[in-house]
Amino acid sequence: MIFESLAERLQNTFKKLKGKGKLDEKDVDEAMREVRVALLEADVNYKVVKDFVKKVKERAIGAEVLGSLTPGQQVIKIVNDELTELMGGTQSKITISSKPPTVVMLVGLQGAGKTTTVGKLGNQLRKQGRRPLLVAADVYRPAAIKQLKVLGEQLNIPVFSLGDKTNPVDIAKAAVEHAKSYGNDMVLIDTAGRLHINEELMEELKNIKESVKPHEILFVMDATTGQDAVNVAKTFDEQLGIDGVIITKLDGDTRGGAALSVKAVTGKPIKFVGMGEKLDALEPFFPDRMASRILGMGDVLSLIEKAQSTLDANKARELQQKIKSQDYNLEDFLEQMRQVRKMGPLDQILGMLPGMGNLKQLKDVQVDEKEMLHIEAIIQSMTPEERRNPSIIKDSRKKRIAKGSGTKVSDVNKLLKQFDQTKKMMKQMMGMEKMLKKRKGGG
Ligand code: GDP
Repeated sequence: MIFESLAERLQNTFKKLKGKGKLDEKDVDEAMREVRVALLEADVNYKVVKDFVKKVKERAIGAEVLGSLTPGQQVIKIVNDELTELMGGTQSKITISSKPPTVVMLVGLQGAGKTTTVGKLGNQLRKQGRRPLLVAADVYRPAAIKQLKVLGEQLNIPVFSLGDKTNPVDIAKAAVEHAKSYGNDMVLIDTAGRLHINEELMEELKNIKESVKPHEILFVMDATTGQDAVNVAKTFDEQLGIDGVIITKLDGDTRGGAALSVKAVTGKPIKFVGMGEKLDALEPFFPDRMASRILGMGDVLSLIEKAQSTLDANKARELQQKIKSQDYNLEDFLEQMRQVRKMGPLDQILGMLPGMGNLKQLKDVQVDEKEMLHIEAIIQSMTPEERRNPSIIKDSRKKRIAKGSGTKVSDVNKLLKQFDQTKKMMKQMMGMEKMLKKRKGGG
């Protein structure tokens, strides 16, 4: 899970503070020492850590005690504010030119995820009603052009290529002209990378920049390479000038140091994060939401947005009704499993719930395709009464169901446990949705 170790350490530190009625300087010092170690272990740039801890400490010690918060909660709030600030404060979107096409150039080292991200970004923009053109200007990595063409075909988005014998500057120029004639309002240029920064690469990128004057140059960086990636970002910014950062492979990054340092080190905001290999696994980056995820306060807003964009609205409403009326049964569970699986890996989804960030036991809720078939078979082997009222499923029924579905009694038990946990979780989510609505002043 993203930021797993950092989240766990910070949450443990704050658990100790939460209960205290009064905090003296020693308590704050002790907590800040732990925060410092946690951030350094997460591979955050040491200078960034130093400034961060200093700021939090100053604010914590000088802070007026707010009536509604305990001193411990107040420290957590300050850390939350400062983490948000560290990652850029507010969401930073890409600039859309008033005179189309908007030209966006993706740059970065080889393997960072540029080509994949060009596809993901195109996919996202098209969903917003735009008409992107993907441009294959990576003539250096042998398979890059083919890869982009395959992505374009999968997504049904046009790809502009002149093969690998043409100069990338000419490709980029021709692509912008092509977009003008064909009404593409976004031009996304996939540029070449290298294993390391070198002069030839920088020259090539500068020349493309000079000739097509992109509205945005986005640096694509692999989160799992930590501080190295941050240093590369800095060099790209100094030599080429970047407008923002896309962090890829955040799904595989348990530390988070790159994401936490890059804004402070380069001054350039993170605009998107890649959360998986699939073409819909690109998310806009919200510093405040990410901060509360790290602190285990969940990211209910992202979760609800995700649910709204992937789930079938009618089915979701039906389910909601059922949960409210306590009617929720195993058939609904099956339907819901199918729906939720469309949202993405379950551990990512659970990580967005407050307090669920590091609930290890929820890992056994994880299901793969094969288990899904088991679950279907087990539920189908039940009588309608059993599905409606699973509490009547005792030993002899379990044996019969296991036999009928070609599974084991332990599988039936596991499913029943998942059902219970899901039911609880759904109640919790509904409670939160109500709370959010209230906060917004709605119904
Ligand atoms: P390029 O050389 O910069 O164009 O890199 P590619 O686009 O070919 O990506 C390199 C590898 O990283 C590929 O295997 C991608 O599937 C993978 N990748 C890219 N973005 C992500 C991401 O957000 N998460 C994960 N898990 N893998 C990613």
